[in-house]
Amino acid sequence: MHIVRRRRIRPRRILANTPETEALRASAKAFLPGRVRELAAQAGIPFSGRVAIKHNVSNWGSCSVKGNINLNLNLMRLPAELRDYVIIHELCHLRYMNHGPEFHALLESLCPQHLEYRKALRSWKLI
Ligand SMILES: [Zn+2]
Repeated sequence: MHIVRRRRIRPRRILANTPETEALRASAKAFLPGRVRELAAQAGIPFSGRVAIKHNVSNWGSCSVKGNINLNLNLMRLPAELRDYVIIHELCHLRYMNHGPEFHALLESLCPQHLEYRKALRSWKLI
């Protein structure tokens, strides 16, 4: 889920902005920043960064070294538990900017079903 670490094996596909994606963007802007703060508080992970809503094909979410979180507007199409999983994954990157053992231990403690959710995400196509 890390844009910086992602190896691109396919040419970048361009996603078109449509009335449907603009509606997703509006609901994402209204919902996701607050949800990030709720989940951060529940996880005990301090978050004082910004939440930006993106429309890209490369990832569901990413986290910057400055502690800001980017989330794909397509998250609004997902079941709530998958959406939360992506957010929790990015929150874990506020502690560990890698996918090492400590990152995985934290993710496991906050979201025990993360492997199942990661697999389930693969069946969703971005629009
Ligand atoms: Zn990641």
